[in-house]
Amino acid sequence: MLKQIYLANPRGFCAGVKYAISYVDKVQETTNENVYVRKEIVHNRRVVEDMQKRGIIFIEELSEAPEGSTVVFSAHGVSPAVVQEAQNRKLKIGDATCPLVTRVHKKARNMKDTHQFIYIGHEGHDEAIGTMGEAPMFLVESEEDVEALKDKIDSNKPLTYLMQTTLSVSDTKKIVEKIGEVFPFVEHPAKDDICYATTERQEAVAQMIQDVDAMLVIGANNSSNSLRLLQLAQKTKPHSFRISSADELNIPEMIEQNGIEILGITAGASSPQVLVDEICNKLKNCYSNLKIELYPESREDSMNFKLPKNLIQIN
Ligand code: SF4
Repeated sequence: MLKQIYLANPRGFCAGVKYAISYVDKVQETTNENVYVRKEIVHNRRVVEDMQKRGIIFIEELSEAPEGSTVVFSAHGVSPAVVQEAQNRKLKIGDATCPLVTRVHKKARNMKDTHQFIYIGHEGHDEAIGTMGEAPMFLVESEEDVEALKDKIDSNKPLTYLMQTTLSVSDTKKIVEKIGEVFPFVEHPAKDDICYATTERQEAVAQMIQDVDAMLVIGANNSSNSLRLLQLAQKTKPHSFRISSADELNIPEMIEQNGIEILGITAGASSPQVLVDEICNKLKNCYSNLKIELYPESREDSMNFKLPKNLIQIN
């Protein structure tokens, strides 16, 4: 029977997600026209649905927005080709890309005339697509992918690597070591690109995993950082599981059958606190003596990104 829940801290919304959501809200406040957002603003259905209720229109491609309208780019960033298309269509552009993703784009732009790039990331993820649009890059997802690049990299040209911000810290370390082994001339950046929020949320799970029977990760199945949290938890506690909302919580199957008495809960960087509350309430309704506490060694996420003065660029 479930007796105890430990809530991980930090968990849930990161500074980049808060920035992107407040960016869209602010743009909406300053215009009477429709506001379109290209792609999910962050990878979470609840966040998107709440914005739709407030009148925000989500589109997959710019062609769905009328010429001259206001379009905001999502937190994951876009490639220069998308910016160009927006300019061609005379759209008013708002860029809600997380500043930590923008930093990776800038590195690519600054070095693209001199360097070859390896990009460590996940194929098809919005952030990877956006960053890889800045310059030609070889995508790797594993150490095997690095081996496979042996005949493709020019050893006479400087080589460096960039990475998606939401990767597994430990798996990426192994890939970076492999890059150094296969390409000894590679220039290692002074700092990697995995963001503070990804690192801290993974550290919080690693810290508490020995004290729980399993972790519950709240996050969407297209949320890279949520999937990395699950992967990390399952390495030590295989009964750990991920759900997107309270509706998906099947208590007999996920808790009872696995004999879970102490459950750790964390949430991906795009999952709002309301989802954590709803899931805890559902568990409390089922287990009347359930204790819910912050994990004792928790710490706060105090990072904050300020919105720019000019939210919209007019073409
Ligand atoms: S997870 Fe990191 S890179 Fe992604 S939005 Fe949050 S702070 Fe930015």
